[in-house]
Amino acid sequence: MSYQRLPYADWGWAELRAVLAAMLCGRIRRGPAARQLAGALAGLLAVPHVLPVNSGRTALRLGLEALMQLRPGRNEVIIPAFICPAVVEVVNSLGLVPVLADVGADLNLDPGACEQRIGSRTLAIIVAHMYGCPAKIEAFETIAKAARVYLVDDAAQVVGESVGGRMLGTFGDFGVLSFAQSKCVVTGESGGGGVLICHENEVSPIVQARVAGLAPAAGRLRALVAFFWNYLLEAHTAALSYRWQRLRQQVLGARARGLVPAGIANLDACLALQQLKSLSRRREQRLRILGHYAAALATPGDPWLMPQFSPGRYLARVMVSLPPGVELDECQRQLRRESVCTRRGYATHSPASCSARGSPDPGARLIELPAYADMTAKDVAEVCQRLRRVAAAYRQCVSNRQDGDDHERCYQ
Ligand SMILES: *Cc1c(COP(=O)(O)O)cnc(C)c1O
Repeated sequence: MSYQRLPYADWGWAELRAVLAAMLCGRIRRGPAARQLAGALAGLLAVPHVLPVNSGRTALRLGLEALMQLRPGRNEVIIPAFICPAVVEVVNSLGLVPVLADVGADLNLDPGACEQRIGSRTLAIIVAHMYGCPAKIEAFETIAKAARVYLVDDAAQVVGESVGGRMLGTFGDFGVLSFAQSKCVVTGESGGGGVLICHENEVSPIVQARVAGLAPAAGRLRALVAFFWNYLLEAHTAALSYRWQRLRQQVLGARARGLVPAGIANLDACLALQQLKSLSRRREQRLRILGHYAAALATPGDPWLMPQFSPGRYLARVMVSLPPGVELDECQRQLRRESVCTRRGYATHSPASCSARGSPDPGARLIELPAYADMTAKDVAEVCQRLRRVAAAYRQCVSNRQDGDDHERCYQ
C-alpha cells in the first residue's frame, strides 16, 4: 500500500503558479493581495471587516488586547479544556488567566460547563470548532449576552461552514481564522497567515487601528522552502523533520513558537486566495472520504467511534477514538511501519478538572487518520483494516503477557 498521509495541505498548480508569480514580480512581502483577500473573505463571510495578519495567534492576541482595554478590571478567559495549545499560549502571554471548562462528546466546549465557570472576573469566552466540527455557538451567544461577557468565535480550523445560515467565525464580538498547515485554508507553515473577523462594534476600531500599524511578515520565502520540504518529502522525511523541529524548539525556545504580530505577507495572501477558490471542491472530497471512513469503521460487533462524525458534516480531520486496552503510542508506531501516518489528538488541559468529575480525558484515546486529496475508498478500507489488525495484535500480545512482565512492550 502506498504511503497514507495526514491532511497537511492540498495544493495544486494554482498555488505553485501563485508562488512563482509573486517571486517573479518581487512581491513576496508587499503587494495588493492582502487587500484582495480581505475583500474576498468579507464577501464570503458577510461581515463588514476582515483584517488579515500573520497568524491565527496574532488575530486572537490583537482581539483579546482590545477586550482587555475595554474591560480593564477583568482577567479571566474561559476556554475549552480540549483545545489547540496555541490558544492557551496566547491567553497566558497576555497575562490573562485561562479558565478551563469541560468539553462534550463532540470535543467542543460544553455550554453548561462554560456557564458554571462564568464569574465577576470573566472577560471573555473563547469557543473553538474543534477539527472543524461546529460548536453550539448560538447557545454561547445567548450565554455571553446574558452574562455580559465577550464571545470569541475561534474558527481557526474551519473556513466556509455555517450554523443557522451564519458562517463560523462570524459569531460573537470578533472571530479568528488561521492559514497554518493542516488547517482548512493553508498558506504554509504556522505564521503564514490568519485573519481577525470584525463586526460593527466597540472592538472593531481598536483592532483596525492596531492592524493598520503592522508591517507585513518577513522571512516568508524561507518558511515556504521549509513547508515544501515537509509537504513533498513528508513520506521520506517525516521522522527527520519531526526531530529537526523538536531540536529547533529546544534551541530557540519561545522564539520559535512565539509569533510577533505582523500583517500578512503578499505571498501568503496570494496563496490564501487560491485556496479559497478550491474550497468547495476540497470540501466535497473530504465529505466523500469521511463517508468511506464511517462505512469502513462501522463493522457490526466491533464498531470504532468517530466522535464528531455526522453524515454530511464537514470535518477538517478524521479523528477516531481507540477502543480501551490499546496503547496509542504503540499503535501509532506500528502503523507508521506499515506506511500509515497518524497523529494524536491535543492533550487535554487541566486533567484534574476532568478526572475529578469522573469524565474521561477526551484527548487521550484520539488518533487522527490519513486523508488526502485523491484518497480512494480502497485506501480508506486498507487504513481501517490495518488499524484493526494492529489493535487486535496489540490486545492479543498484552493478554499473552499478563502473567509475565507487563512493562515489556508489544511490537518490539
Ligand atoms: C491553529 C489554531 C490557532 C492558531 O493559529 P496559528 O495560525 O497557528 O497561530 C488558534 N486556535 C485554534 C483552535 C487553532 O486550531
